[in-house]
Amino acid sequence: MDELNKSMYQIGSDSAFAILARSNELLKSGKDVINLGIGQPDFPTPNNVIEAAIMAIKDGHHGYTSSNGIIELREAVANDFYKRNNTKIDPSNVLIAPGGKAIIFYTLLMFGEPGVEIITPDPGFIAYRSMIDYTGAKAIPLPHRMENNFSFDADELLSLINQKTKLIILNSPANPTGGVVPEEELTKLANGLLNFPNVYVLSDEIYSRILFDKNKHISLKSFPEIKDRVIVLDGWSKTYSMTGWRLGYGIYPKNIFPYAEKLAINCHSCVNSAAQYAGIEALVGDQSEINNMVQEFKQRRNYLYQELNKIENISCINPGGAFYVFPKINKNNMTSSEIAKFLLEKKFVATVPGSSFGPEGENFLRISYANNIENLRKFIVRLKEFMFD
Ligand code: PMP
Repeated sequence: MDELNKSMYQIGSDSAFAILARSNELLKSGKDVINLGIGQPDFPTPNNVIEAAIMAIKDGHHGYTSSNGIIELREAVANDFYKRNNTKIDPSNVLIAPGGKAIIFYTLLMFGEPGVEIITPDPGFIAYRSMIDYTGAKAIPLPHRMENNFSFDADELLSLINQKTKLIILNSPANPTGGVVPEEELTKLANGLLNFPNVYVLSDEIYSRILFDKNKHISLKSFPEIKDRVIVLDGWSKTYSMTGWRLGYGIYPKNIFPYAEKLAINCHSCVNSAAQYAGIEALVGDQSEINNMVQEFKQRRNYLYQELNKIENISCINPGGAFYVFPKINKNNMTSSEIAKFLLEKKFVATVPGSSFGPEGENFLRISYANNIENLRKFIVRLKEFMFD
């Protein structure tokens, strides 16, 4: 097939959505499917946020807004960012978008083209790689290894930079591993980047509120030496259980913000108006439901970490954030795709094969624990049946 432009044949997809579709089919046919495949919290959006959206519609907020988002929301983002990172940002550099994914899409359209290299986590969120490939840029994988708690090595990262490098994508806490990059590594990176003044960083901080134990979020934007080259991606999807509302944001350096805004104008015009008002309430309202959610995630993580490590031929680190565990599984040399397929079709458990996040993910499975503890218990039983069969 060659009717479309050449780039179209390069674009990838997100296997988590294909797995969701298949598990829904199995569910419809009466199977007791446990879905640990999709990355969305299993909690409702907080009620105060829902009420704010209803009020907004009743108050007549049904029209277009400015394409970068309503000023009240951009100010709320700037205040929230300051509270959490002790770093001032200008609300006029905030682009409200229909989900964090739109920020990945726009940023890669801004930087990617043939001849350009973009460094991206391996294993890493699937959309990075798909969009790099689409633009014709070359993806340079940055290994995030289990031995390194699924963080990266700043010296290794700096050694990958050359004249063609325009952008580095980082994601902490990470999808698919739950890994958190320690402060020393970020400091080393920020210092090292002083030698490469034309390289930008897209820092995907969408899981920044879902952290456990002593881990604390450190935004790359808080390093003064590189802050003018850092694009931050964050949003409401994970923190406030708002994946279906489609609300996220990007904080762009001033010099490139107008280009992101032009993409927004040409693509989505503006984000759903009521969702933007709900987004303000989420940021300024009571945060106790979020804290409860994180506590609940922590218990589930502890449970899975302990139980998985009890199974022979499975090893798993205790991830510092997000809501995924990423165990290494060895069963008769099956690939991670074969294991995920078997688990879905025969044991009715949806997971995502590690290899779909990059070659470093082979032999691992991504397990989202955005599911209740009873289902996680059932999952462990079914996984043991599979392993000991
Ligand atoms: N970045 C990462 C690392 C993610 O895991 C996701 C969602 N799975 C996104 C961005 C996109 O989030 P949104 O639903 O807000 O588009």
